Amino acid sequence: MTAQNSKASIIDGKAHAAKLKASIAAEAARLKAEHGLVPGLATILVGNDPASEVYVRNKNKTAESLGFKSVHHHLPADVSEAELLALVKALNADPSVHGILVQMPLPKHIREEAVLDTLDPAKDVDALTPYNAGLLLSGRAHLVSCTPMGVMMLLKETIGSIAGMEALVIGRSLLFGKPAAQLLLAANATVTMAHSRTKDLAEVCRRADILVAAIGKPEFVRGDWVKPGATVIDVGINRVDAGDGKSKLVGDVAYGEAAERAAHITPVPGGVGAMTIICLMRNTLIAAAALAGLPPLSL
Ligand code: NAP
Repeated sequence: MTAQNSKASIIDGKAHAAKLKASIAAEAARLKAEHGLVPGLATILVGNDPASEVYVRNKNKTAESLGFKSVHHHLPADVSEAELLALVKALNADPSVHGILVQMPLPKHIREEAVLDTLDPAKDVDALTPYNAGLLLSGRAHLVSCTPMGVMMLLKETIGSIAGMEALVIGRSLLFGKPAAQLLLAANATVTMAHSRTKDLAEVCRRADILVAAIGKPEFVRGDWVKPGATVIDVGINRVDAGDGKSKLVGDVAYGEAAERAAHITPVPGGVGAMTIICLMRNTLIAAAALAGLPPLSL
């Protein structure tokens, strides 16, 4: 498929996600039939951020559509840190729960580190605990952060081996940039990480065969920053004014301009975002199998 008025082929995240969902559904059915295992996902949302509410609702709906057990805990914005930690501990101890997702960001009075230090790494399906981050760094990853994993799957399906390629990740968050760089390195790319202190970002971008943007600034990466023939992965999700009193979602890359020069590009929406929830389901299934003492799954 080709982007309108452009040379780049569109990386269809929705189609890839549908394929992965089908294989997760098949594996979940097998585990249920052979071992009576029903994966359980517990989500915790603190407060009433509308975007977070939508994300969490979609996660629960997707889990249910796969036949997983799905439990949601919605806590008031002024819940104490101690109460939240007590809930996490209770879910850690609940054998019917295999994955626990605490939706970030949390209100300022709650320390994210305290929550992550309490969460059982075996149930850390967002792979945010220091233990899982350390396993990834050591080349022994078990549960891997969902969005970076989705990006790697899209790259594999789109260009195959990335060994020796110049890969740039813009953004160094714990949630995306750092694990993404580790995964690209593990796939033998030559990896550069850029951030808000990077000098002459446009020039750094022009060297990248794979350009991954996770900045959180609408259409920040311009078309003439893209190396001709590069693969552009846009992780950003930004809601902007559509000009007609409505809003729309755009990425961190100026899509129309970038599609003129890239060989492959992810759209927003319909690119990376589509993979994230499915990778969360994959992690929940992997965690369930591991907690039940079953051999590692090949998904
Ligand atoms: P974040 O924690 O806010 O990190 C943003 C990163 O961008 C930081 O490392 C920051 O650098 C860097 N940055 C900011 N301004 C910059 C500039 N002018 N030049 C270069 N780098 C700059 O964000 P995040 O959680 O990683 O998310 C990033 C984006 O991805 C957001 O739009 C988010 O909504 C989206 N996202 C999407 C998904 C999905 O499922 N598709 C999942 C996760 C996130 P410093 O470290 O120097 O401050």
